[in-house]
Amino acid sequence: MQMVRGTGRGKSRRVLEVKEITINDMTLMPCAPGVCQECAVNHPAEYPHNQQSLYYQMKFNKEHGRWPTWADAMAHCSDEMKAFWVEELRKRGVEVSA
Ligand SMILES: [Zn+2]
Repeated sequence: MQMVRGTGRGKSRRVLEVKEITINDMTLMPCAPGVCQECAVNHPAEYPHNQQSLYYQMKFNKEHGRWPTWADAMAHCSDEMKAFWVEELRKRGVEVSA
């Protein structure tokens, strides 16, 4: 894949060769025991997975073929827990859509 930088007027252009690595080329090692086995974070089972966890993102992508959203991360939660997290994330500028 080629990426072009410096496309502005009068500026020189640099073409970078970028090697893309497909997710199938990677092996995900098991996470530590004693933490959530989905996101590798120590959290109560009734809480959402940490959507920001790289382990969670890689594991989810491998299983579902797409990157997880916060809605995915809290899919196993009660409606009350989901409402709490949706509101708290909204306060921090993160909109969660179903
Ligand atoms: Zn988790």
